[in-house]
Amino acid sequence: SRMRGFSALVQTKALVNGNWIDSSSRQTFEVKNPATGEVIGNVPDMTVEDAQQAIDAAKQAYESKEWRALTAKDRSNMLKKWHGLIEKHAQEIAEIMTAESGKPINEAKGEVVYGNAFVEWFAEEARRIYGEIVPSGQPNREVIVMKQPIGVAALITPWNFPLAMITRKAGAALAAGCTVVVKPSEDTPLTALAVAKLAEQAGIPKGVINVVTTKKAAPIGELFCKSPDVRGISFTGSTQVGKLLFRNCADGIKRVCLELGGNAPFIVFDSANVDKAVDGAMASKFRNCGQTCVSANRFFVQEGVYDKFVTKLKERVEALKIGDGKCSDVQIGPLINKMQYDKVSGFVEDARNKKANIIVGGKGLQEVGDLFYAPTIVTDVPTSAHIYTEEVFGPVVSIIKFKDEAEAVQKANDTQRGLAGYFYSENLQQVFRVAKRLEVGMVGVNEGIISAPEAPFGGVKESGVGREGSSHGIDDYVDIKYICMGNL
Ligand code: ADP
Repeated sequence: SRMRGFSALVQTKALVNGNWIDSSSRQTFEVKNPATGEVIGNVPDMTVEDAQQAIDAAKQAYESKEWRALTAKDRSNMLKKWHGLIEKHAQEIAEIMTAESGKPINEAKGEVVYGNAFVEWFAEEARRIYGEIVPSGQPNREVIVMKQPIGVAALITPWNFPLAMITRKAGAALAAGCTVVVKPSEDTPLTALAVAKLAEQAGIPKGVINVVTTKKAAPIGELFCKSPDVRGISFTGSTQVGKLLFRNCADGIKRVCLELGGNAPFIVFDSANVDKAVDGAMASKFRNCGQTCVSANRFFVQEGVYDKFVTKLKERVEALKIGDGKCSDVQIGPLINKMQYDKVSGFVEDARNKKANIIVGGKGLQEVGDLFYAPTIVTDVPTSAHIYTEEVFGPVVSIIKFKDEAEAVQKANDTQRGLAGYFYSENLQQVFRVAKRLEVGMVGVNEGIISAPEAPFGGVKESGVGREGSSHGIDDYVDIKYICMGNL
């Protein structure tokens, strides 16, 4: 390992069956700091055969006494220990995360707290995976329903929340009694390996959590989908890859949980408290440089408050501090990689060509670094623009003026995506009407940041299937078994 200035938590080895696998006999790939371009580590580029070994290890661990014989309380205690260790190492994990993802250090610390809250939550849920005894229709029978772990689950996670997307899945899987193979994003493997190291220290048995670092996402993803030993796939990432995985899971009738892209509407009604709406807009849009799947993507603002909202938002956007996320006052870091940078700048150019109005930003900030893009506001966005029809995943606010509630709701729902939606209104009747009519899985009413371990996260339409977090987060990792006790 060539890591400098980092803690002992930095692992540059993949983890299969409790063995830390170094790169001596393998190809490696570089992990880069997107703020500076600096290489911060090299990790093994695991092959399909390696991934198969990880599946075998997870299966063996699932069937072993060390795991299967545990009670829910034992598993809960292990998760609590893991939670305690992540808490203890919060600062180091946050620094690793900022270095490999570019997210501002304060947000990285926030993600450690948020991501770790799922470990704690599922430690608590582990003991409440109740079955049922249902009153039988026949006198000599008992209808018993129990929940059992599905077996090995493969978890494929993205770079935008390098910790939380792993804990939200692995916490639930382990609570249910499953074992896992994690394939973290190739952009952010170090955070994944650091928390896996802590899981090992927490006493979670070998093979229960395996981490496959790789650039061979496509063939390894296909293996996960097609291997009969993998009973479920949980994926967070792009809609395009999600659809591919869903198709590949069809043959094996595999359990799938998909958390895919959104195209979140953010509606500001005339009845809104505009100051609160501006606060919510800033939080929802600029967290992680706009690179979250619940980021507001299309802002619909009603005529009566339009000028006020746009003026205030513009002031706030112009005041944002941009730079390397390791500086504690920075609010906007770089985009994750060149591909995302090109996508964001291409979308803004497309809007410019389609006669939208760019009132702030609209350009790269190469004086700061190659992957920095200026926080941008675009108004008069035509519905044909890419920033309207697709998720921009960058620091770009797209604003559309509307006349009445029906028009706002119709436009908000005018997409095949349906993850989060937000609106600001102080009118009670309107709040209920609109909350019920938005075609999304999650609604923020007078609130721009809504994720929490207690709440079910997930989408409708092409934004996904399944829910993560909350008591429902366990469902994807258990099978329901009905036992008919007859001739009593
Ligand atoms: P993002 O836009 O968030 O990078 P991706 O869907 O490309 O979205 O990436 C999310 C995760 O999916 C990453 O871990 C990535 O390596 C993985 N991935 C990318 N392509 C595939 C694929 N064909 N099969 C399985 N996983 C994939």
